[in-house]
Amino acid sequence: MITINEIKADRGEKIQFELKPCETYSMPATLIRGSKPGKNVLVCAGTHSSEYPGIPALIRVAEKLDPMKIHGDLLFIHCVNTSGFKARNDSIVPEDEGNLNRDLPGNVNGTLTQQIAAYFAETILPQMDFCIDLHSGSLHEDLTPCIFFPKEEKISDEVLSAAKSTDIPYLIASENNGGIIGYAGNILYIPALLLERGGKGECRPEWVREYEKDIYRLFTHLGDFGKQNETEKHKHTVFEEAIYLEADCEGLWYPNVHPDMTVKSGDLLGHIEDMYGHNLREYKAEKDGIVMYHTISLAINRNDPLVAYVIKKE
Ligand SMILES: [Zn+2]
Repeated sequence: MITINEIKADRGEKIQFELKPCETYSMPATLIRGSKPGKNVLVCAGTHSSEYPGIPALIRVAEKLDPMKIHGDLLFIHCVNTSGFKARNDSIVPEDEGNLNRDLPGNVNGTLTQQIAAYFAETILPQMDFCIDLHSGSLHEDLTPCIFFPKEEKISDEVLSAAKSTDIPYLIASENNGGIIGYAGNILYIPALLLERGGKGECRPEWVREYEKDIYRLFTHLGDFGKQNETEKHKHTVFEEAIYLEADCEGLWYPNVHPDMTVKSGDLLGHIEDMYGHNLREYKAEKDGIVMYHTISLAINRNDPLVAYVIKKE
């Protein structure tokens, strides 16, 4: 059973409330306490505030699910970074420029982001049997649908079989321990998945619909959570390695790739010029791979992400 502060819900009840990770912050949430016991599952969206499609998808699923038909407890956090969402920020929490996909386990006495991170690490995540976080390409990123799963071997069978219940084809091992999913999986050994769909600050209806389906597919796989999908078979490829290329100077970024594009070792991925058209840097693929996402903005700063591509096994 999921316990959240003073929120009380009986079996068969659905409660919508403002979840308060600390005194000064609140996040819209739904707690569905199924009529029978079962798994505790967390689904989050809006951890990065401009990654939109997961937010309405989660709101709609929360509305449709009938607690009387559910075995187990579901906690939905409709928008984790609510202040970033209102500020129309790209990813960060505006109060302190923290990143909730990096800053776990946080600190209860730290900055706002650290306090929110600590609430996830200490209060929310340890109660869960499975965690799902819905992301997208950021405001400046174009992306092909993919899933990042925690690299931790103890949970790999469980996370991979769950990931394969979705129709998202690319499954990528991740060593990130500082996000909600990475901390759950790699540190607490709780099975967890980070899904990616859509991007560029858009919220296309088809992406929202696909995210709704992803959630139902995962629920069908995980247990008895009401709405069932017909059993579907999808093709998946698992990647153990990815390269996250970052800019090492500022300037104008001219990408030479698109999402889902196959690249060969030595292929030009893009280049950076200055304001006078001088070529400053060229970026070439180090290995054969497939592009998952890339930055589309012309303006680029040092350390900004440029291209993320997964490496095909030799
Ligand atoms: Zn994200």
